[in-house]
Amino acid sequence: MISVLRIGHRPFRDKRITTHVALVARAFGADSIYIDTHDEKIEETIHAVCNRFGGNSSIQTGISANRIIKEWHGQIVHLTMYGETLSKAMSFLDRKQDLLIIVGAEKVPPQYYDFADINVSVGNQPHSEVAAVAVFLDRYTSQAWQEKTYDGDMKIIPSKHGKKVVSNDRSTQH
Ligand code: SAM
Repeated sequence: MISVLRIGHRPFRDKRITTHVALVARAFGADSIYIDTHDEKIEETIHAVCNRFGGNSSIQTGISANRIIKEWHGQIVHLTMYGETLSKAMSFLDRKQDLLIIVGAEKVPPQYYDFADINVSVGNQPHSEVAAVAVFLDRYTSQAWQEKTYDGDMKIIPSKHGKKVVSNDRSTQH
């Protein structure tokens, strides 16, 4: 079980990037997504994507980050450019345990560096929470996220040219 906890979400400023954190978490294999600030729009977007494309990733917004962390049974990773290198972190992590991945928005309060079993960097340059979640999950799952199958109304058939989508027993090509 893999969960992603997005802290410091500001609904007005971060709507798009937090939506992308949630979409990437879902697509790269996270089972649940927690966002500390209530945001109905992001919940609706993720539910709509799950309805159309399948999967059962859950999303909860407006939750207490401290409560999620306190009640977590498993390992906790905090993604930060100051953390341990990705390759060293991979050998530290026990894949048999549940994993909570914390990502920040602007300034991450210092206590989150202590809550984590390990602070992990995806390179030591500042970039983006979206990229950090994607690269971390790609490495953590050893790319197994790509093999995951979904049971939605729409299924995309990989295609060199154009768009091929299977939708409710109907195949459409564009
Ligand atoms: N200045 C902020 C701080 O004090 O941590 C970071 C802001 S950054 C735009 C937002 C989030 O992206 C961070 O909290 C972290 O989770 C993630 N992030 C950015 N660069 C990263 C990196 N190189 N490695 C891991 N995570 C990173």
